[in-house]
Amino acid sequence: MEKIKNYINGEMINPISNTYIDNYNPSTGEVYSLIPDSNEEDVDLAVKSAQAAFPTWSKTSKEKRSIILQKLATLIEDNLDRFAEAESKDNGKPLKLSKTVDIPRAAANFNFYATGVLHYASEAHAMEDMAINYTLREPIGVCGCISPWNLPLYLFSWKIAPALAIGNTVVAKPSEVTPYTAYLLSELCIEAGLPKGVLNIVHGLGHKVGAAITKHPDVPVISFTGGTITGSEIARTAAPMFKKLSLELGGKNPNIIFDDCDFDKALKTTIHSSFANQGQICLCGSRIFVQRGIYEKFKTAFVEKVERLKVGNPFDEDSNLGAVVSQSHMEKVLSYVTLAEEEGGTVLTGGNQVHLDGDQKNGYYIAPTIIEGLSFDCRTNQEEIFGPVVTIMPFDTEEEVLMMANSTKYGLAATVWTQDVTKAHNVAAKLHAGIVWVNCWLLRDLRTPFGGVKNSGVGREGGFNAFEFFTEPKNVCIKL
Ligand code: NDP
Repeated sequence: MEKIKNYINGEMINPISNTYIDNYNPSTGEVYSLIPDSNEEDVDLAVKSAQAAFPTWSKTSKEKRSIILQKLATLIEDNLDRFAEAESKDNGKPLKLSKTVDIPRAAANFNFYATGVLHYASEAHAMEDMAINYTLREPIGVCGCISPWNLPLYLFSWKIAPALAIGNTVVAKPSEVTPYTAYLLSELCIEAGLPKGVLNIVHGLGHKVGAAITKHPDVPVISFTGGTITGSEIARTAAPMFKKLSLELGGKNPNIIFDDCDFDKALKTTIHSSFANQGQICLCGSRIFVQRGIYEKFKTAFVEKVERLKVGNPFDEDSNLGAVVSQSHMEKVLSYVTLAEEEGGTVLTGGNQVHLDGDQKNGYYIAPTIIEGLSFDCRTNQEEIFGPVVTIMPFDTEEEVLMMANSTKYGLAATVWTQDVTKAHNVAAKLHAGIVWVNCWLLRDLRTPFGGVKNSGVGREGGFNAFEFFTEPKNVCIKL
């Protein structure tokens, strides 16, 4: 069976302990490769190699860094099919999604930050004829980047690309559930000519490898995307060490559909925002609030269209939903359907595991699920499910829907559907969210700030925000 390797100091190596964890293909339920079960020693080796590479990489001209990272982006594009197939096999997502979103966006992240660094400038503050201040933005050192399984290479590259482009070195850990494309990326880093030690990828379990990166004294920066509970654990470790922290955490995003929306567009996009990637995108809208005047019409059309979605082999062209990422995740998602029923909800469609035939018979498939009849403040409507399960609720007024939308501890994203521009501005301003989409969803401009409020995170990624995070400002004041 194929053994994935760590990428440390420019080489693909086995974990020091020589022990491995099974890597499952969620669409078949079979183990198809082995992941290094790395530990603190592997992390320490990676940190040492990143430390050794830092002085040279941070002084390498940004033009040269840019060329190498653009080459990496081009290599990802050249390997689109191979990477997309690997991502779908590892994660269970439809191949067409990997081909059109995950892998192209991973390449775009490298391109964006490789070119962005050429345009990044710092500030100067003149004090009339007394003095001038200028601010240096200096790379910090070894950055720890820890990413989740839902958009594996895409979110991995979203952190690594800005950290490297601005002159840091990196020790990164992809999710142990979906390590494969990060492994393939190591090969491309070597081909692109990334100097040894600049990027190090250590595979393994979160509580071993992730925790070792977080607490390592020579890693002053941690950029983490994942669940809120893990985020708080990381914060507990990192805060007393005064590490710089960026936390992109969970969400429970509201989707607010007013009477005056463009009905067909709202319906079509809501299907997408509910069930894309099997609902496993932190930005998916999982609480759908529909204004009373169109509630019944919307509900009927929504259920009817969702029933036509095909849950199937991720490699079939016509599959709309593939497998969820793991057996334990499938069980967690389905347990929320049981909870919803206990809380008085009615399952309008779905709510069950889907059993496919042939190779897929042991895969982790769930029917897209819509639940009605729940109060806005029940657990099903307050906790993150992170699967193909949404709730639908009627509302009457703007005030009422804002109260319900803002009632959770999360505040990542929200979607608003209305043709009334004033209403759109009003509602967007009052929503507790880091990102609000009006009459669209998942439209991303890489320059915009990305992140959440409340328990959805601390800090912002995206655009030059990422360069600000991955540098320390130093103000120099010169008396004239
Ligand atoms: P987890 O929090 O379980 O894991 C995220 C990463 O952290 C994984 O690499 C994991 O490793 C690692 N990890 C686990 N425990 C520790 C630890 N003690 N110390 C350091 N690292 C650790 O999240 P999931 O992978 O389950 O991802 C789903 C979550 O991510 C959802 O809550 C979702 O909302 C959120 N998310 C947020 C986004 C945002 O931008 N705000 C975007 C995408 C997802 P391992 O997998 O090996 O355990």
